Amino acid sequence: MKFVGAHVSAAGGVFNAPLNAREIGARAFALFTKNQRQWKARPLTEEDVRKFKENLRAVGIKPEHVLPHDSYLINLGSPDPEKRKKSLEAFIDEIERCYQLGLKYLNFHPGSHLRKVSEEECLKIVADSLNEAISRTKGVVLVVENTAGQGSNVGYRFEHIARIIELVEDKSRIGVCLDTCHLFAAGYDIRTREAYEKTMEEFDRIVGFKYLKGMHLNDAKSQLGSRVDRHHSIGKGNIGLDAFRFIMNDPRLDNIPLILETIDPSIWKEEIELLYSFVK
Ligand SMILES: [Zn+2]
Ligand SMILES: [Zn+2]
Repeated sequence: MKFVGAHVSAAGGVFNAPLNAREIGARAFALFTKNQRQWKARPLTEEDVRKFKENLRAVGIKPEHVLPHDSYLINLGSPDPEKRKKSLEAFIDEIERCYQLGLKYLNFHPGSHLRKVSEEECLKIVADSLNEAISRTKGVVLVVENTAGQGSNVGYRFEHIARIIELVEDKSRIGVCLDTCHLFAAGYDIRTREAYEKTMEEFDRIVGFKYLKGMHLNDAKSQLGSRVDRHHSIGKGNIGLDAFRFIMNDPRLDNIPLILETIDPSIWKEEIELLYSFVK
């Protein structure tokens, strides 16, 4: 069974996110548990947590179908020790917020080398950050997302993701999220049956489906291999509808959150209906 949703708003409080998900007919969702553009956040209150859990139950969405996303400010691969430390502390706070909310995952982007260290060095810094975060927290699986490879971001090759996993000591705490726009922008084609199978086979060989905890379903304004991260609504970009037909009928993608991060929230409901209509 497929669990499709979107990255919904948590404005007014985290407890509003499940209600926003229900509004668009979602069976899964993503959210920020704090303002994604600020370092500091007010701690969650017992009341916030109680209302979140109550609403989640009321809308019938399971914690494993919620994929919280961390702040855009965090760079776990920063070559600057001060900035890395600041990122790590903010990341740990985010893990704790997810744990408080009874959630299983925290989705994050690996990081950027800022052209000061090599990609390999940056991947090691990311893994060191993850090992420290894991040792200081419990319960939550840290879900690394493949990137478009824009700027100095690492994580645009399956080999980068595999290297991070290799260096993480507790493999039960690391997972992967595949973003279709990022795949495409990084040069992994999924537009035809043949290309889709080739990309997925490569992912399985290099990383492994057992680590896949979620996907981001986005079409792309950017071109194949352009390393430019520009999302588009499903079927309106350069990826096109067929890739999403393959996804909706791929049993390897059952039972994980499939999250829209497409550019027009006013059509998320229609996009979710469209995706479910592809299931044979
Ligand atoms: Zn994404
Ligand atoms: Zn993106």
